[in-house]
Amino acid sequence: MGSSFKIQKGENGVVYYSIPTFDKTNLVKTCFTTKIGGVSKGNYSSLNLGIKTDDKKENIIDNFKNVCEATNISIQNLVLSDQVHKDNIRILTKEDRGKGVLYDSDILEVDGFITNEKNVALVNVYADCVSIFLLDRKQKVISLVHSGWKGTVKKIVSKALVMMKEHFGTNPKDCLAAIGPSIGPCCYEVDGKVIDQFKETFEDISDFTLLKDDGKYMLDLWKVNKMILVENGILESNISMSNICTMCNSEKLFSYRKDKGTTGRMVGIIQLL
Ligand SMILES: [Zn+2]
Repeated sequence: MGSSFKIQKGENGVVYYSIPTFDKTNLVKTCFTTKIGGVSKGNYSSLNLGIKTDDKKENIIDNFKNVCEATNISIQNLVLSDQVHKDNIRILTKEDRGKGVLYDSDILEVDGFITNEKNVALVNVYADCVSIFLLDRKQKVISLVHSGWKGTVKKIVSKALVMMKEHFGTNPKDCLAAIGPSIGPCCYEVDGKVIDQFKETFEDISDFTLLKDDGKYMLDLWKVNKMILVENGILESNISMSNICTMCNSEKLFSYRKDKGTTGRMVGIIQLL
């Protein structure tokens, strides 16, 4: 499987992925970081961007500065939430800029962002969960959601599209979507309890699950999120898949599962220009 994401290296050593299909529109800047190019040590080595981790706060801030320098996004523009594996989505404005990095964030219980304002950088943190980027090229609206298995069961990305329609008149046919690096179908083993929740929401789970001999399942969060996007009217040809598994690429990416919980975080960023 090829990747639609492109690796980039900043002059300051920060290595990150961009999404060429998005960047080519000249409407946005996109980024998904790796663990390369930061100052953190140990389990957080080196580009840890997880504000909620036990890493030194000054290291995390320095790492954000490095990312901003490499991507040419102002640190003033970044907005983060607490991300609690729910499906609440917030529409952001310029007033929210700086929340979560430069200032404490009052954006709580939120796992997805939408904005139609320029220079508001939507940021989510990840270490196995799925990042989904959306760009409405016509109405010039962007969204970024954090969709782990819980967010996927709740179809958080479908909720983002409904909100974009209601608030900004988005037609899904005008949208580009991208699914970022996260734990892949090769590595994501879950137990029956997780699968039971998918059975409650999805009529047919056979397309994205595989029952193993030991009674556990392999779960394909990329495929199910792609299905949800298509169900909501996004054209398959407009979906970019990174096809990059965090657990398989742990030399380059943080993986919560691979590192047994104590690990750094990467960020996805999208900003309207
Ligand atoms: Zn893998």
